[in-house]
Amino acid sequence: VSSVEMTQEFLNRIKALNPVYNAFVTVNEEATLSQAKFADETIAAGKGTLLTGVPIAHKDIFCAKSWRTTCGSKMLSNFVSPYDAHVIERFGQAGTVNLGKTNMDEFAMGSSNETSHFGPVKNPWDVNAVPGGSSGGSAAAVAARLCPAATGTDTGGSIRQPAALCGISGIKPTYGLVSRYGMIAFASSLDQGGPMARSAEDLALMLNVMVGFDARDSTSLQREEENYARTLDQPLKGLKVGLPKEYFAEGLSADVERAVQAAIDEYRKLGAEMVEISLPNTRLSIPVYYVLAPAEASSNLSRYDGVRYGYRAPEYTDLMDMYKKTRAQGFGTEVKRRIMIGAYVLSHGYYDAYYLQAQKIRRLIAQDFTDAFKQCDIIMGPTAPTTAFNLGEKGADPIQMYLSDIYTIAVNLAGLPGMSIPAGFGDDGRPVGLQIIGNYFSEAKMLNVAHQYQ
Ligand code: GLN
Repeated sequence: VSSVEMTQEFLNRIKALNPVYNAFVTVNEEATLSQAKFADETIAAGKGTLLTGVPIAHKDIFCAKSWRTTCGSKMLSNFVSPYDAHVIERFGQAGTVNLGKTNMDEFAMGSSNETSHFGPVKNPWDVNAVPGGSSGGSAAAVAARLCPAATGTDTGGSIRQPAALCGISGIKPTYGLVSRYGMIAFASSLDQGGPMARSAEDLALMLNVMVGFDARDSTSLQREEENYARTLDQPLKGLKVGLPKEYFAEGLSADVERAVQAAIDEYRKLGAEMVEISLPNTRLSIPVYYVLAPAEASSNLSRYDGVRYGYRAPEYTDLMDMYKKTRAQGFGTEVKRRIMIGAYVLSHGYYDAYYLQAQKIRRLIAQDFTDAFKQCDIIMGPTAPTTAFNLGEKGADPIQMYLSDIYTIAVNLAGLPGMSIPAGFGDDGRPVGLQIIGNYFSEAKMLNVAHQYQ
């Protein structure tokens, strides 16, 4: 089958089903099919790679040349990117076809996709449920078979939590492996791009493309190239799995715990040995994150001033009034809340009490993992405390929403790699995710661990 045929098939599915799921905010059949045609020519010329001609979707946080790139916001709803993100460039070199841009929480702030300017995404397992967030469009698109794989980003759980809630797989690599160039910034010290797909094997193939040094991101790491698909078949006998007692405590719903324990039992059968570990500072990860992430966001989002690109208020009296009206009209409620929190914790007189304190605790949270990895090779637990909740259920209470990332955020604070793989279903028939956390640069091991179960 040719890339054009395969791509057309997915475009047809998107046309038929996107009105139900709202997973894509931009499709451009013409641009997509011309990429597919080019891929077929590349293959015919014998110059294809493993992924040449494979259509994939991109979270609308990645700038793609000549494509509208909105980041889920009214602020960028008219922004057509003049350049490619490093990730988009890499996929272009590999020959994949861009199927379209997926819906997301506004500026990746959210856990349910309900903060998107383009309306919420529906969970393909139950359209009354949220898909998770912020990469909910990518997760729903993969789950509904609107694309075989997609890109996502994860600042506090945005790849893993929607993967869990939609019953797919996703991995957030070690901070620094995937370039943030052209990936619209939320909280730069935490943001990391990664793949979302149906299996660990597909994640490995995607990761092979996404990982690579890029001089335009000052935190990009220069490392020897790795093939993440090479060790998928290694046996797991003797693998030491750490189970953090804090991840199996109050707040975890009983059905999610049952499903996660069942997955852990499977790992026992595969020869893994379970050890109880402790991550004592876990309970501080949400408060720390909600100081640091808004602080960085308040700075990153100051660039949206209506002057050079993006939304500009139609009527204003002078420059200051234009700034104010543009930002008042262009940003949604959650984004404004974060900007205000961020400006507050960075302000003179509060900086020491909040920002500096949070940075110190961040260090302790990272140290917890360093200590834990002296006792185990890999850490397992739930990805999220519950299965997908209903649309509208947590919208009114930001704290409840923030708590859905209780098991994912510490990984970002530490810069570690984390992934989520499907692990059965809750009592409501909605998917459960098993989280796998590895030490720095242990992506190949994590994918191997996931692949053996799948
Ligand atoms: N849900 C978290 C937040 O709202 C994490 C989002 C993310 O990882 N981008 O900030």
